[in-house]
Amino acid sequence: LYNQLQDLKGNIRVYCRVRPLFGQPNSAGSVGSIEEGSISMIIPSKYGKEGRKTFNFNRVFGPTATQAEVFADMQPLIRSVLDGYNVCIFAYGQTGSGKTHTMSGPDDLSEETVGVNYRALRDLFLLSQQRKDTVAYDIGVQVLEIYNDQVRDLLATDEIRNSSQNGINVPDATLVPVSSTSDALNLMDLGHKNRAVSATAMNDRSSRSHSCLTVHVQGRDLTAGSHLRGTMHLVDLAGSERVDKSEVTGDRLKEAQHINKSLAALGDVISSLANKQAHVPYRNSRLTQLLQDSLGGQAKTLMFVHIRPEPHALGENLSTLKFAERVSAV
Ligand code: ADP
Ligand code: MG
Repeated sequence: LYNQLQDLKGNIRVYCRVRPLFGQPNSAGSVGSIEEGSISMIIPSKYGKEGRKTFNFNRVFGPTATQAEVFADMQPLIRSVLDGYNVCIFAYGQTGSGKTHTMSGPDDLSEETVGVNYRALRDLFLLSQQRKDTVAYDIGVQVLEIYNDQVRDLLATDEIRNSSQNGINVPDATLVPVSSTSDALNLMDLGHKNRAVSATAMNDRSSRSHSCLTVHVQGRDLTAGSHLRGTMHLVDLAGSERVDKSEVTGDRLKEAQHINKSLAALGDVISSLANKQAHVPYRNSRLTQLLQDSLGGQAKTLMFVHIRPEPHALGENLSTLKFAERVSAV
């Protein structure tokens, strides 16, 4: 039933989330208005045609939406992984727009503030327990990072990580079996720490790399003996802001070019799927190559685009909303 419901809504869904202004938890700041399925922006002339522009989504969450409310809406998608579907969930937006808040939660985590990653894993374990008399499930986790178009295995030991200067071969990435939400949480923490260690030389690396928590599910039907396999990728994307080529050089420019290229490649793949085009350009970035098996076909995609409420963020918000428009099914 869950899958039927999902199918009615299509395999690609786009949600928008507007975070509150700092210190004003109820305010959406410069955002014109927020409805359940649309958001309008007030556009001054310096950004093109002056006036109000409305963007439509499968769902829009305003500044007062809780982590639990956001998750409740996507819960059926998570459950379908246990039925053997592949799912990708992306957080897109400029730095500071709330991607990490949605996926992981804020720094001071509590039962109420934990994000999608934790809630998704908790649901997977809960449901697999409920089904334990009919299906035996094995669940495993990988934590990867894509930085400058190279994939890093954040669960590998230091030796392995250092021996692969040019990025690891993804099928070999460490897959750790987990049997509880706390197992999974510990691995997420380990991945987080490994990411921080490799970032010492660079300031705030996290906003300039894509981080991907992948959950592999294998199930064996205890009566029929049949097998099923589902995969869920939870991706906190690099910040989508454009950097001014006149202001950055060297490594920073290279990073920016890799980010632009991979986000554009992701947009191209999802929009060609949404528009049912024959050719899907998976090979244009490591990100889309990595996720190829979970984008398209029977797989389900949820793109979360994030909006900042500050007036100065308008230009970037508009490019985020344009990206979202492009990846929505027309
Ligand atoms: P990003 O990962 O896109 O760079 P963050 O998730 O780090 O952005 O969010 C920036 C700041 O805003 C953080 O301090 C975060 O806790 C806060 N924040 C983001 N989204 C929300 C929200 N929906 N409600 C409350 N605070 C939020
Ligand atoms: Mg972040």
